[in-house]
Amino acid sequence: MATMEKVFAGYEARKAILAQNTNPFTNGIAWVAGKLTPLKEARIPMMDQGFLRSDLTYDVPAVWDGRFFRLDDHLTRFDASCKKLRLSMPLSRQEVKRILEEMVAKSEIRDAYVEIIVTRGMKGVRGNDPKDLINSLYMFVQPYIWVMEPDIQRVGGSAIIARTVRRVPPGSMDPTVKNLQWGDFTRGLLEAADRGATYPFLTDGDTNLTEGAGFNIVVVKGGVLYTPARGVLEGVTRKSVIDVAKDNGFEVRVELVPVERAYCADEIFMCTTAGGIMPITSLDGKPVNGGGIGDTTKKIWDGYWAMHYDPAFSFKINYTETEDGRIKSRL
Ligand SMILES: *Cc1c(COP(=O)(O)O)cnc(C)c1O
Repeated sequence: MATMEKVFAGYEARKAILAQNTNPFTNGIAWVAGKLTPLKEARIPMMDQGFLRSDLTYDVPAVWDGRFFRLDDHLTRFDASCKKLRLSMPLSRQEVKRILEEMVAKSEIRDAYVEIIVTRGMKGVRGNDPKDLINSLYMFVQPYIWVMEPDIQRVGGSAIIARTVRRVPPGSMDPTVKNLQWGDFTRGLLEAADRGATYPFLTDGDTNLTEGAGFNIVVVKGGVLYTPARGVLEGVTRKSVIDVAKDNGFEVRVELVPVERAYCADEIFMCTTAGGIMPITSLDGKPVNGGGIGDTTKKIWDGYWAMHYDPAFSFKINYTETEDGRIKSRL
């Protein structure tokens, strides 16, 4: 069986086991103000500036087959994002890690999408010193989310170069801070749907590629991987792509990438924590690589998922299982 089929078969098997589980947290668990609740019951206060002004930053690590993947890389980026917005994490990194691991264990979810959000809190910055404000932390764990479903990953997805919207410029909203000011991405997603495609690629308004709605873009040409240096979130998945590419002897260039390079690309793929390596086989209605997934994309795909079992990048979550695979007691 090809690696892709093994990865998806393992995932489907774990998902089938979870579907039999009657634990109230298997559909998701949330942490709000120190309390754990089923995700669908979790609420945020209306006066939270995260809700009223999108004054927040967030990050999304993932759990794969019972292992946290690159959690420290996500938390390091999260710390940097908080500093840039003058937010401070209400809990220490050690406490956040401990609570996240407990939440995953309590949910019994083996493949999880994990989100941590820090908002300004109940008071805004106008007239206040940000140092005096009490910021709010929210966390949740839910079953893994695919920005591109496995069935589409098998054949590749369809993208467009957005022409009705550009990526917000770095001088307006710093794209290296993971944020939820999704006005540009939402317009791009609507345009993509209007044009019969799924994924918008946004430009910098000056004929260069940036990124799309929650994913980075990689263009392969002549055996070299190109990914935009500016106007993008510095993705942890992109970092993994660079690691895998170098291990496989590919050259990677993080630089200005003209849109033109996507139009004459050998291969194109997108990457994000929620979905991994996502091949694009159609761009603006025209086939990429003859409409099939390319060999370079396949190598990166395989290497990326193999990395999830490498102790240098992941650690096993302690679910404290009994012999029948159930959680004894954790919290
Ligand atoms: C989260 C996100 C990505 C991907 O980042 P990863 O760390 O790989 O998950 C790319 N672009 C944007 C705008 C994002 O929000």
